[in-house]
Amino acid sequence: MTDSLGEHVYNNIACTRCGCVCDDLQVTVQNNRIQRFSPGCTLAESWFASFRQPQNSISARLLNQVVSRELALQHTADLLRQARAPLFFGLSRSSTDGQRAVCELADALGAMIDTTASLGHGPSIVAFQSAGESTSTLGEVRHRSDLVIYWGCDPVISHPRHVERLVDAAGEAVPEGRRGRRLIVIDTAKTATAEIADQFIQIEPGRDFEVLWALRLLIRGQTLQTASVGGVPTEVLQDFAEQLKASHYGAVFFGVQLASGPTGHGTVEALLRLGTELNRWTRFVVRRMRVPGDVTGADSVLCWQTGYPFSINLNRGYPRYNPGEYSAEGLLARGEVDCLVLVGGERVDKFSDAARNWMRQIPVILLDPEGVEWDFPVAVRFYTAVYGIHRRATAYRMDEVPIPLRQILTSELWSDDEVLRAVLERVQKEESHTPLPSGTPA
Ligand code: SF4
Repeated sequence: MTDSLGEHVYNNIACTRCGCVCDDLQVTVQNNRIQRFSPGCTLAESWFASFRQPQNSISARLLNQVVSRELALQHTADLLRQARAPLFFGLSRSSTDGQRAVCELADALGAMIDTTASLGHGPSIVAFQSAGESTSTLGEVRHRSDLVIYWGCDPVISHPRHVERLVDAAGEAVPEGRRGRRLIVIDTAKTATAEIADQFIQIEPGRDFEVLWALRLLIRGQTLQTASVGGVPTEVLQDFAEQLKASHYGAVFFGVQLASGPTGHGTVEALLRLGTELNRWTRFVVRRMRVPGDVTGADSVLCWQTGYPFSINLNRGYPRYNPGEYSAEGLLARGEVDCLVLVGGERVDKFSDAARNWMRQIPVILLDPEGVEWDFPVAVRFYTAVYGIHRRATAYRMDEVPIPLRQILTSELWSDDEVLRAVLERVQKEESHTPLPSGTPA
């Protein structure tokens, strides 16, 4: 609907700034810029603010020199054709179409693919593969849960509307909303979410596994022969175990903190097994808090395209999966990559010094929207359109529900999907070698 000021109001717009992918926003657009949105969200504010500025029309750079998109595409195709061990990394700022395009191009090249999950919830995925998952949609949690637990995460800061939409909101079985639910936070320090919780249980850093194992004993009716576990008094754990069993529908949301460290997969597995066992008494689900917008989509798309969610090697003509061996961090730190394509440069700052040092020695091709801060030397930089702003697309919410994204602004820039498919066309054609700006890496 466009009013006399030339403002157009879009309803039910999805935000991809975090894994909640809230799809109930009202966004007002004027002169191809976002003017305002509601309801408010501190994270979404910074996200939408970037679309209040006029757009840059530069589509590509080679070694920081502005070039035509065609020249950048051709040089990218040349670099990839010459590479013996190319790696595609990122994908969580992309969408289903971009992630599929990565799979197609990587397949044609015999390349490796890894996503930001390998620096985050990768160990959780490994745990799901061994222990299974008691799962649900966020809608089911909203409508049925009377007990919500945040374990090792602080959604008030990281996912600002998670509590509002799931804990405070009324549901079919919980018409009183927040008053009909108990909210418990378990963490190593008091967080913003702990401040609004009914109960905060503080545990010592790195002791989650022991606490989870103790809870599994307690819900089976066994007793602990110790005064505390992981810094939590035994009577607090006993009371907590009783609350878990007495709930009508319980949900645990856990953060990446639980999956970190060398035994993170074991800790997550302990939580998953606790959730499974609780289903003998009540309905209980265990869900991850996913941070970047479409990292869940990256897991899903890679799974349906290759059979595996991350850390995949296609160089034998069929997919092989081995977290660690084919994870970007290890591949880069060991110098086993000779060309890196970043489909979104997010989380590169989480790589080790060894991995980042190797990135300085190989051609790096970056696909990211304008305005993304980037302080790393790159051979080719494509400025891309943003899914859900400049392009229709699909993103997966943290509960693996695909959410349609609509276009609300126009842009002449290509999406990463369009860039990658154009590179694939050129890789498949044999001719190449467009003259390049001086100093461009071969
Ligand atoms: S909670 Fe996340 S997805 Fe929802 S509006 Fe805020 S930033 Fe966007």
